[in-house]
Amino acid sequence: MSFYDEGQRIGVLTTEPVGLLDYLAPEGGVAEGQIVICPLGPRRVMGAVWGQGEGSFDLAKLRPVAQVVEAAPLSAELRDFLNRAAEYTLTPLPVLLRMAMRAPDLGKPPAERRIIHRAGPEPARMTEARHAVLRVLDDHGGAGFAPTELAQMAGVGASVVKGLVAAGTLAEVSAPRDLPYPRLDPELPGKALAPDQAAAAEALRDAVASGGYGTTLLRGVTGSGKTEVYLEAVAACLRAGRQALVLLPEIALSAEFLDRVEARFGARPGEWHSGISRTERRRLWHMAAQGEVSLVVGARSALFLPFRDLGLIVVDEEHDSSYKQEDTVYYSARDMAVLRGAGAQAQVVLASATPSLESWVNAASGKYHRLDLRARYGEAELPEMATVDLRAEAMPGGQWISPTLAHAVEARRARGEQSLLFLNRRGYAPVTVCRACGEQIGCQQCDARMVEHRFQNRLVCHQCGESRPIPDACPACGVEGRLAPVGPGVERLAEEVAARFPEAKATVLSSDLFGSARALKETIAEIAGGDTDIIIGTQLVAKGHNFPRLTLVGVIDADLGLQGADLRAAERSFQLMRQVAGRAGRVAGQRPGLALLQTHQPDHPVIRAILSGDDEGFWDAEAAMRREAGMPPFGRLAGIILSHPDLGIVSAFARHLAGQAAPIRAAGAELWGPAPAPIARIRGRHRVRMLIRAPRQAALQMAISDWLQPVKLPVNMRLSVDIDPQSF
Ligand code: ADP
Ligand code: ZN
Repeated sequence: MSFYDEGQRIGVLTTEPVGLLDYLAPEGGVAEGQIVICPLGPRRVMGAVWGQGEGSFDLAKLRPVAQVVEAAPLSAELRDFLNRAAEYTLTPLPVLLRMAMRAPDLGKPPAERRIIHRAGPEPARMTEARHAVLRVLDDHGGAGFAPTELAQMAGVGASVVKGLVAAGTLAEVSAPRDLPYPRLDPELPGKALAPDQAAAAEALRDAVASGGYGTTLLRGVTGSGKTEVYLEAVAACLRAGRQALVLLPEIALSAEFLDRVEARFGARPGEWHSGISRTERRRLWHMAAQGEVSLVVGARSALFLPFRDLGLIVVDEEHDSSYKQEDTVYYSARDMAVLRGAGAQAQVVLASATPSLESWVNAASGKYHRLDLRARYGEAELPEMATVDLRAEAMPGGQWISPTLAHAVEARRARGEQSLLFLNRRGYAPVTVCRACGEQIGCQQCDARMVEHRFQNRLVCHQCGESRPIPDACPACGVEGRLAPVGPGVERLAEEVAARFPEAKATVLSSDLFGSARALKETIAEIAGGDTDIIIGTQLVAKGHNFPRLTLVGVIDADLGLQGADLRAAERSFQLMRQVAGRAGRVAGQRPGLALLQTHQPDHPVIRAILSGDDEGFWDAEAAMRREAGMPPFGRLAGIILSHPDLGIVSAFARHLAGQAAPIRAAGAELWGPAPAPIARIRGRHRVRMLIRAPRQAALQMAISDWLQPVKLPVNMRLSVDIDPQSF
């Protein structure tokens, strides 16, 4: 690793838009990758040492680095990853550096923490307050709290703790601010694996032990034991003394996963997502850099942590659309995991029951390895599948549960089993219409309808989050009392359930109904414990939860995702319905579970594929269609989105840009548009999109840079580049 002596010229990549600047190495010198604070005009900015500098300024004119931050330097592997991620996603490098330095208080020297522990016998004079303090401490193993924290937990004043310290009953020590994580023990016995699990685990163990890069698609139906299998890959990684990262699509899933890790390895891993405290984030960041945390479970942003020696990345539910970030930085965590894994000489495991078409094609072409778990673990069997043809059911207005489905629910309830009614629509009704003038209430800021949320008594825009009380009068014609909800959301479905199954206990699982990850976790635990007859849920329930008494899944509107011009609609619908249907299991000794799909189009290819269980046939047909059209993953796509408060200005500017797209055509790519973006207005900004389609081998990113580099954006215009857009 390079080291720069005091006074030497160095390049510092700042987290500011200016990016790379030259400075002088400070007193004592500085290492490559070291995080530093530098003067920039009158300000001080953060950055990382990034090579020898450009040499554009006279040495005499350079200013020295102001401060070296006390933290492990960013490794060559991480710096290289950031460089390549910037090139791939066409995101400015400083923006990515900021993502990698997302530890709170990085610039501040680590303060010491004072920690209280038991040191001597109780003092002669014991008050109730003193008892309370000692009780709290003893309940928590006799140590570990800061003085104020301890006083708070005991519900007493800080002076009580001080008094006990003065009496010698307690003592204070200073502890490092960032405590290492407990060691995970890979030698604890794991579960005895079924033969196909054992074979898959063996293959992954060997791959991890080889110490090199490789990507494996681990495919297996829900409940086939994929998690058990990749935990063995984690064990192999721990044995090799390297770090492992497991990405999950949903924070709510991590609670169950943490328990499983603890059961397997005797301790909990580090956690990284929006629900953890600043202190914890800081701790994890430093421990990752020092190699003091061996397993991290996290959301997609964990990919940018400064691991010291990353040996394994698992992307669980790899097809999940939440892995695609489309906000400031556009990136797919699945693709970035492969990019980071390749640079880190790490193994990447993509696990799913319903892989993305991209991964399916990559596995078929041999670019990825593929491991299949064919059966469910143990006695469990895949559910039976059937359609309910809504054209043939008697369904009065305002009802969405067909007689056939209602009958099946009733039968489950009589046996003490659970049913899940799946409807991927949050709120009460997707549309509120005025019966006087026909107006559909829309968001004032977005090209979206306002969705009635009756539990909160508000209309909410799912695009921008704007909400307002449900009005009495129509905002368009002013007539009162004629607004009516149209169509069902989960809340309205819950109303129907209450009316039709008055004896049943029903629970609604929808992300907006839970204030915290903890509340959601508790509800999920209650359901798993059997304390619910009917679960009414959005796609939140599709993801990975195990509900042992759930034997019936009813898909209320199987046609919901089938319409639309989006080429990915079929793939998404298929994944979602397959996942949801997979929630239905078998209660020991009983018949297998049942999934009923309510549809008006029982012959639709997606519905037929779900029923027949011929997933491979479905993927092959989808792949053939995409190949024919030259669409991803056979061709490459990029979206260029321009936004501005004024539609005329943004449209004109987009046409102007399109007129200069010679570099795009020179690269053999096509430019489509400009056209209104999939959501044409968000938060008052009009959005226009151009799509670029290129052959697989084209230097797409280079062509886009050549095209956009010289462009000067007008005031208030925003431009973002989305490589591999999700909808097309
Ligand atoms: P997946 O990740 O494929 O959905 P899981 O790994 O969560 O599947 O396994 C489903 C259920 O079966 C879990 O409750 C898990 O503990 C159990 N299970 C899987 N494999 C085994 C095994 N070899 N021994 C005991 N239980 C297992
Ligand atoms: Zn809105």
